[in-house]
Amino acid sequence: MEDLQCQVCGGDDCPPHAEQGNWSYRRCADCGLVFLSPMLNDDALAALYANPDSGGTRAYFRKEASKLRRARGRVRHLANAMNGGPDGRSFLDVGCSGGFMTQAAMEAGFVATGIDPDGDAVAHAREHYPGASYHVGGLIDFAAHSEAGFDAVYCSEVLEHVADANAFIGAIAHAMATGGALYLTTPDIGHWRRPKKLSDWDVFTPPHHCLFFSETNLRQLLARHGLEIYRRQWAFKPGLKVLARKRGDAI
Ligand SMILES: [Zn+2]
Repeated sequence: MEDLQCQVCGGDDCPPHAEQGNWSYRRCADCGLVFLSPMLNDDALAALYANPDSGGTRAYFRKEASKLRRARGRVRHLANAMNGGPDGRSFLDVGCSGGFMTQAAMEAGFVATGIDPDGDAVAHAREHYPGASYHVGGLIDFAAHSEAGFDAVYCSEVLEHVADANAFIGAIAHAMATGGALYLTTPDIGHWRRPKKLSDWDVFTPPHHCLFFSETNLRQLLARHGLEIYRRQWAFKPGLKVLARKRGDAI
């Protein structure tokens, strides 16, 4: 029955919204969250990502130069959020893949850590971008075993893949220092350029994307975990790019 309830607002008026193949999504009538239902369990999620398409991964790494350029642009937003600048401040990339963002963060002066469940990607990061700490695994385990205190956290296009948004954002908040900054991106189902028919949207790829947010319910989700969005970056593509801070009164 859990699947019928909205993870963000707890609303239970979540009628069926979209279907593709064997996959169905519901939409919360209160906050607009669109979610896979039934949701994938941990075993299904693990199986889904156990054998990443290595051909795709190689193609991904070939775009290295442009990925590094983009990473340097994005890290500037987190560097600007640091009082006194990024030098020596700690930086965590959740879903670090091949290490482009940890490299950009080190160049900016951060002490960088990257975490990703994809062992091949982390091996690439360790080889090509040494100097950062890398961990293979999931964020929830990592956060449970690490001392709270990252000054800056980057998490791009990961949130839509998780089954339990509260556990995931809770782990991010736990890993952050009070006053720390988060740069988070995820597809924007409320964007003016999102195709009307969900199945026409290039990121509507069941079951990989389990959760689809709009600015309103993303703000609501982060607020539940003491994270306050203070800036939204304009995006031409239907995506949310937000900066949030961990409030001082957060648990
Ligand atoms: Zn809701």
